Amino acid sequence: MSRVAYVNGRYVPHGGAAVHVEDRGYQFADGVYEVCEVRGGRPVDERRHLDRLDRSLRELRIAWPLARKALGVVLRETIRRNRVNDGIVYLQVSRGVAPRDHAFPAETAPSLVVTAKNLDHDKAEATAAAGIAVITVPENRWPRVDIKSVALLPNVLAKQAAREAGAKEAWFVDPDGRVTEGSSTNAWIVTREGQVVTRPADHGILRGITRTVLLDAIAAQGLSLDERAFTVDEAYAAREAFVTSASQIVMPVVSIDGRPVGNGAPGLVATALRRDFHRFAELG
Ligand code: PMP
Repeated sequence: MSRVAYVNGRYVPHGGAAVHVEDRGYQFADGVYEVCEVRGGRPVDERRHLDRLDRSLRELRIAWPLARKALGVVLRETIRRNRVNDGIVYLQVSRGVAPRDHAFPAETAPSLVVTAKNLDHDKAEATAAAGIAVITVPENRWPRVDIKSVALLPNVLAKQAAREAGAKEAWFVDPDGRVTEGSSTNAWIVTREGQVVTRPADHGILRGITRTVLLDAIAAQGLSLDERAFTVDEAYAAREAFVTSASQIVMPVVSIDGRPVGNGAPGLVATALRRDFHRFAELG
């Protein structure tokens, strides 16, 4: 089956889908993005993702490329044309095409690209059943990581460092020795006392949509939650650890920097939260 991408108003073959060489997303990483899970052919938590997109666009003073409702139609149509059942839909908005100059162009329409693909459900479940390894790396990103910008070079380098260390994710660590988040995930631990801990989303991390929804699941399961920064040493000593993102939902972490977490197997809390997550998510 041939894949299709949406590029600035047209559905085009994925293999040849392209933006202009002077697209500011390409030249300056002057753009933002969202990744939504797709389940049963429908976007998950679209409302929250589009709310976050709105915030990212406002922070960077980029206009909406389409009306919000029309963007919803494009997401669904891209999912449909690619016959995505369980997978992800990706959207990216850049400030548009203009002669290269760092300052904003006077009048340029923003660019919009949407792609969608199936993910291998069985493989994801097998990964979750085994759990993943993470490494820690020094935080080296700009302070506005609350904006979901496509400027991801530190995240790219961190993920590559993880891969080269035989791990699946890298956790950034701030100068105080506290974990901020993963290169493409939010980071969580469960203490020996059974308290779920994750960094507050007001500073130093992206406010993950999965994170937000999981807070509801945690409350519903009667778990105790502490929204605070945790240190790498706390994570080493934790009973459980896990990461969250739209494409991985809740992914158990079984080792950090080569040290087993808890008994070295996926934890009960992470496993239960993964199982229950979609009861709290909104299906569009
Ligand atoms: N932090 C970073 C740096 C990310 O790239 C992501 C994934 N987009 C997340 C956290 C998780 O966010 P979400 O749950 O909305 O996918």
